[in-house]
Amino acid sequence: MLTDADVPGVWQRLGLPGILDVHVHFMPDPVMRKVWAYFDDVAHYGRPWPITYREGEADRLERLRELGVARFPSLLYPHKPDMAAWLNDWAAGFAAEVPQVWRTFTFFPEPTAVDYVTAALDGGAQIAKAHLQVGGYDPREPLLDEVWGRCADAGVPVVTHCGDGPVPGTFTGVGPIGEVLQRHPSLTLVVAHLGMPRYGEFLDLAERYDRVHLDTTMAFTDFVEAGSPFPPADRSRLLDLGDRIVFGSDFPNIPHPYAHQLEAVLRLDLGDAWLRDVLWHNASRLLPVGQ
Ligand SMILES: [Zn+2]
Repeated sequence: MLTDADVPGVWQRLGLPGILDVHVHFMPDPVMRKVWAYFDDVAHYGRPWPITYREGEADRLERLRELGVARFPSLLYPHKPDMAAWLNDWAAGFAAEVPQVWRTFTFFPEPTAVDYVTAALDGGAQIAKAHLQVGGYDPREPLLDEVWGRCADAGVPVVTHCGDGPVPGTFTGVGPIGEVLQRHPSLTLVVAHLGMPRYGEFLDLAERYDRVHLDTTMAFTDFVEAGSPFPPADRSRLLDLGDRIVFGSDFPNIPHPYAHQLEAVLRLDLGDAWLRDVLWHNASRLLPVGQ
């Protein structure tokens, strides 16, 4: 079993400068505490979801440094109106303080969305998060059409929780986000969690649109394999789409050590070249990696 102390040895063996992790959460403290309380309530996911890295912000940053996670975002997302602009301001401040952080932004279907998204992009925001299950909104919502368009034009990756796992939302699944892609085929969509549990349908989407990527977050781990196993028949498609899979962990809100996510990807046994792409090169084409 791989431990966190073994993680640097993995990327060093591959000759990489570290790991690029596109799916990491940092949030204002009160928001993070609410997220943790949500995970603590067994009713939400039907089984315990113990958070491994329930620590102060400085400790969490230090963990990532020790693991060798060279760059990461501070993904955050609103569950109601009048929240996204405030989260974006916080994320800008956080990125200014922590050089390893990709400046992150988010949005919600509301009349002010185009303005604050434009402001974020003009200010240098690099990566967005959209959470269709927690946000409970329809991505086809007309108030978001221009937002998707701006993101597509800017070429920023939009990490989107659009799959039905761990619990479906009204607008999750490949249908609604697929229609967004029909309107904005150049959108750099990063399907969070590899679209679990309907992995195949989201791999189809990546085959159809060459700017669609998928992140590994929680996929292939013991926790997820127990309930939503990745279909062995689709394994070769991970190799075929090897330039579109990006490493993500969901740190710190994970029910296992960071090393287990890495181990889960390693044990797919898809080869070192594939690993180098997934752990570094693919994300490095979407986001800046200079120090
Ligand atoms: Zn997440």
